[in-house]
Amino acid sequence: MKLTILGSGTVVPSATRKSSGYFLELPDASVMLDCGAGSVHALAQFDLPWQRMSHLFVSHFHVDHIGELASLLTAFRVGMTVERSEPLLIVGPKGLDRVIEGLKIAFGKKLLDSRFSINTQMLEPGQTIDLGNDSRLSVAKTPHTIESLAVRIECRGKSICYTGDTKYSEELAAFFHKANVLVSECSYLEPREGTKHLTVREAARLAARAEVSRLVVSHFYFEVDEARLKEELRREYSGEVIVGKDGLAVEI
Ligand SMILES: [Zn+2]
Ligand SMILES: [Zn+2]
Repeated sequence: MKLTILGSGTVVPSATRKSSGYFLELPDASVMLDCGAGSVHALAQFDLPWQRMSHLFVSHFHVDHIGELASLLTAFRVGMTVERSEPLLIVGPKGLDRVIEGLKIAFGKKLLDSRFSINTQMLEPGQTIDLGNDSRLSVAKTPHTIESLAVRIECRGKSICYTGDTKYSEELAAFFHKANVLVSECSYLEPREGTKHLTVREAARLAARAEVSRLVVSHFYFEVDEARLKEELRREYSGEVIVGKDGLAVEI
């Protein structure tokens, strides 16, 4: 598997970090994880085979994770340069149907009318879907919004997990257990009252509790000093640490 970071930022405008988005290439599937502002053009910028995307996973309905959903769907309708008959499946939490209906009201009812079928499936926490060829995607609830999900993708004995947005949770650490790679949100340097996100320390603790091999941190609400960030993460986590940046690719 190969993971490319499309956007390692948040909703805050940044010259270097787009809103949340990741692209995962498997032998027989390719999965985009979240679709925040900038992530659609990043697909081309980082030369990814977006026209062959088989699945889109939506973690939750905050704008930094779904802001470009309508753009992506429109790109599939008007921007295809390859012939394609395989369907695209959009998976996400309960309420995904309402979000898509809302986008149709805003941008026109043809939004999903591409030359191949685009289907949606809402997932309950604990549910798994088959990605073909000994690969699967499963989801777990995160304590962030009422619907928010984390995801785990397994392919031939390898696994990658993505927190979406979350605050610290032991249940989530158990869901990520022994993954090869954990892509974790890492919103703040210091704890903040009333927000359901991870601090640097908590992201490291989550990775340590989950006993994952590699931790990729992303989704920063602070100015990143890479050396200092790594040092801080290593206080709680002894595995390999990768500081996420747009365009960074990780082989799993
Ligand atoms: Zn969020
Ligand atoms: Zn977010």
